[in-house]
Amino acid sequence: MNTLQGKVAIITGAARGQGEAEARLFASEGAQVVLTDILVEQGAVVAADIGPAARFIRHDVSSEADWSRVVAETLAIFGRIDILINNAAISGAFKLEHTEPEVFDRLYRVNQFGVYLGMRAVLDAMKSVGGGCIINTSSVAGTKGTSTLFPYAATKWAVRGMTKAAALELARYGIRVNAIIPGVIDTAILNDTPPNMAEALVRGTPLRRLGNVDEIAAAALYLASSAASFTTGTDLVVDGGMSL
Ligand code: NAD
Repeated sequence: MNTLQGKVAIITGAARGQGEAEARLFASEGAQVVLTDILVEQGAVVAADIGPAARFIRHDVSSEADWSRVVAETLAIFGRIDILINNAAISGAFKLEHTEPEVFDRLYRVNQFGVYLGMRAVLDAMKSVGGGCIINTSSVAGTKGTSTLFPYAATKWAVRGMTKAAALELARYGIRVNAIIPGVIDTAILNDTPPNMAEALVRGTPLRRLGNVDEIAAAALYLASSAASFTTGTDLVVDGGMSL
C-alpha cells in the first residue's frame, strides 16, 4: 500500500509501544519515518529493522534544543516534514495529595510542554511544503476525571486543548491538527499504573479487553492520510467504548 507515499513523518517515543507500531505502519505505507526517543538502543534497533525508509534520532521531547536538532536532521536526511506524531509521554499514578511539585513538573515537561515544542518546531517546514498533519496523543484520562492520575490527566487534557487551539490557528496553512484518545492499550506504560488497575480498567471497557498498538496505528494512519483531509481539531477516540 502507498497511502503515505512521498510523505516524511517524525514520530516521537517510537522505540516501543504505540509509536513503534505507527512507525512500522507508516513505513509500510510508503512514508519515510524518523523515529525519536530517549531509549537509544531500542529505537535504533527498530529503525534498522524497518529499513532505509527509517532513521532513529535520540531526542528528549522536553528539550527545545533537541527539537531543533531533530527537525534539522530530518530535513537534511529526507528533505521535508509532512507529518508529526507527538506520541512520547510518561505516566505515573499519583493522587493530587501525593503529587509533589517535581513530579507534576516532570510530567508537564514531557507530556505537555514537549507537545507544544514539537508543534512549533515543525511549523516552518510544514508551511514550506504547503501543509501538513500533526497528531497529538491524548488519553481517556484527558476526557474525564480520574482519581489516581492527577498530573497525567492534567497534561492529557492540555494536549486536547492545544490540539484544538492549534487546529484553528494553523488551518490557514493547510496544517491539520488532531488528537488520538487511546483507551487502555497493552504497552509498557501500564507498568507505571497501580497493581490491578489495568484489570479494573478492562472491566470498565465495553469491548472487555486491552487495545493493541496496531489499533492505534491504524487510527493514526487514517488521520495522516488524505482520507482525513477535511478533519481537523478532532478527538479520534480508540478506547473500546471505555469513555461512553
Ligand atoms: P510506552 O511507554 O511504551 O511509549 C512511550 C514512549 O515514549 C517510550 O518509548 C518512552 O521511552 C518515550 N519517552 C518517554 N519520555 C520521553 C522523552 N522525554 N522524550 C522522548 N521520548 C520519551 O507507552 P505507549 O502506550 O506506547 O504510549 C504512547 C502514548 O499513548 C503516550 O502519549 C501515552 O500517554 C498514550 N496513552 C497510552 C495508553 C495506554 O494504555 N498504553 C492510554 C492512553 C494514552
